[in-house]
Amino acid sequence: MTTQQLQQRIEKLQAQLAALGPIHPGSLSQQYNVCGNPTCRCKDPKRPRKHGPYYQLSYTWRGRSTTRFVRPHEVAALRAKLAAYKRLRQLTTAWVDAAIALQQLERKAAQRAS
Ligand SMILES: [Zn+2]
Repeated sequence: MTTQQLQQRIEKLQAQLAALGPIHPGSLSQQYNVCGNPTCRCKDPKRPRKHGPYYQLSYTWRGRSTTRFVRPHEVAALRAKLAAYKRLRQLTTAWVDAAIALQQLERKAAQRAS
């Protein structure tokens, strides 16, 4: 890629980053549980049907791991934030890739000029 192409790529990445919207790190998992009631459907000997799904959000930030339950009505909005966070990381990585490539091109150009 040329210097100009890399600069255009970076500008596009910056615009995509600015348009991201709400973010949150982590991943969602589903859990199914059994309760303490011995006659409950979750203890049915033939066809046990566990309770759930219960949604759990897990993430590590600044070296601290957090896991918490997520209410069903929060799941959709949270999924969107998790997807946006993944996109943020992809865009940031692509920007750094382009920045390193640009620096190398600029260094070569400076060496040719001297
Ligand atoms: Zn039960």
